[in-house]
Amino acid sequence: MNPESFDLLSRQIIFIGMEKQEKLSRSKVVVIGAGGLGSHVSEMLIKAGIGTVRVIDRDLVDETNLARVAVFTRDDIGKPKALVIAERFKNLNSDVRIDPKIENLTAYSAEKLLSGFDIVVDCTDNMETRYTINDFCVKNRMHWIYGAVIRDEGLSSTFKPGGKPCFSCLYFGRRREAEKCCEVGVISPIIGIIASWEVMEVFKILTGLAEPNYGKLLRVSLKEPKLEFVKYKAKENCEVCGK
Ligand SMILES: [Zn+2]
Repeated sequence: MNPESFDLLSRQIIFIGMEKQEKLSRSKVVVIGAGGLGSHVSEMLIKAGIGTVRVIDRDLVDETNLARVAVFTRDDIGKPKALVIAERFKNLNSDVRIDPKIENLTAYSAEKLLSGFDIVVDCTDNMETRYTINDFCVKNRMHWIYGAVIRDEGLSSTFKPGGKPCFSCLYFGRRREAEKCCEVGVISPIIGIIASWEVMEVFKILTGLAEPNYGKLLRVSLKEPKLEFVKYKAKENCEVCGK
């Protein structure tokens, strides 16, 4: 770690210790999606000194993103979201490699885009991509973190390498399309909460700071307010992680 990074990360290092910081600095995390959730998650991972942060998103910044995404400004409209994030933070920490990819994650591109990373962080808004992430991560024994926001509500769960339980176990028999923020709306406070939760799960997995949220679904709603954990089990006949 160069002295400049040490100064930058000093408050975090006081809390987690140098050994855990070095684990973060050697790690590679891939963020799928660079909208509300993905931009917050990417920013926090970059600022936390994760060694490599890959950000995957094919979309361009548009006017509707500006109210929810702190890193995007009017000048960014029309530019690829992943590139804007990389550009914004490129001079922050020379020990962090930011690797933007202007692509869609599909079953065909998963191998190329996700191989070699320690953790996949889901910041998408559709179930199809999540099932693609799940299939790849279970098969390749990778950690991944599910995160979803809609209206004032958020969900998250974390999956071990190999699943048991996996994302398909969680929604077993209820495979359906997710509601989309562009159809039913979302407010920014819930985005910050779920993004922060996902980054903390990254810290837990990479450093052993605490037990990650395996086998439990975090459900937050801010209006009531309510925060709960719903336990779920591996399904023996799960088509992804079962026998
Ligand atoms: Zn499963």
